[in-house]
Amino acid sequence: MVTLNTMIKNPRIQGIGMTSRRTRERMIDRLRVQGIRDCKILETLRNTPRHIFVDDALASRAYEDTALPIGYNQTISQPYIVARMTELLLETKPNMDKVLEIGTGCGYQTAILAQLVGYVYSVERIMPLQKKAKQHLYDLRIRKVDYLHSDGGWGWPEHAPYDGILVSAAPEEVPELLLEQLAPGGVMIIPVGGSRSQELHRITYTKEGFQVEVLEPVSFVPFLSGGVS
Ligand code: SAH
Repeated sequence: MVTLNTMIKNPRIQGIGMTSRRTRERMIDRLRVQGIRDCKILETLRNTPRHIFVDDALASRAYEDTALPIGYNQTISQPYIVARMTELLLETKPNMDKVLEIGTGCGYQTAILAQLVGYVYSVERIMPLQKKAKQHLYDLRIRKVDYLHSDGGWGWPEHAPYDGILVSAAPEEVPELLLEQLAPGGVMIIPVGGSRSQELHRITYTKEGFQVEVLEPVSFVPFLSGGVS
């Protein structure tokens, strides 16, 4: 497998000191201890430089298992949650052609997904964040992504149905329009709940209808309606 890190010979992307490969290796060891098993996903996280997705001042903390601010009151998700959501998404259907992501943010989860599925359609409501994400993925030469500036509650009907839908912000209830854009056999991973208590849900569109699994407690920024330019 040609990996991002060996492919791009830019020192900022390769990382040094606290952003180096060794620091990343420790993050992967931690993810294993936390229960992430999928080798392809671990390999993808190992080779994706998380430090380029945060401001330079925070780069030395990029491989800690914490969410970090990315501006506009939003955060980059912690590595564990990115790995876990990706694992849950691909567990039953490892070869997905089309995935819809809601909440591009700085594009870290997008970058991970784009290396593991056929194509990612990513929706973000805050325009300056979407611009940053585009730049980061361009720098990493990740091309299999289309971006939409919109309220993700509408999904992206033009490209539906999707094999997978991954939502990175928590609505109080699962948006109906997103369910409608799931392909038969498709899987949605979504945090559900208000600011006090949220749980990760996996919803599978089976022949019998939508099967809902309520998994672990999580803490996401709220799913907000409307767009911000
Ligand atoms: N996936 C990101 C996490 C970003 S935080 C990562 O890899 O770190 C969640 C993002 O969801 C924020 O950028 C926020 O603006 C966005 N968001 C919240 N509600 C949304 C909505 N209704 N439509 C689209 N994006 C939304």
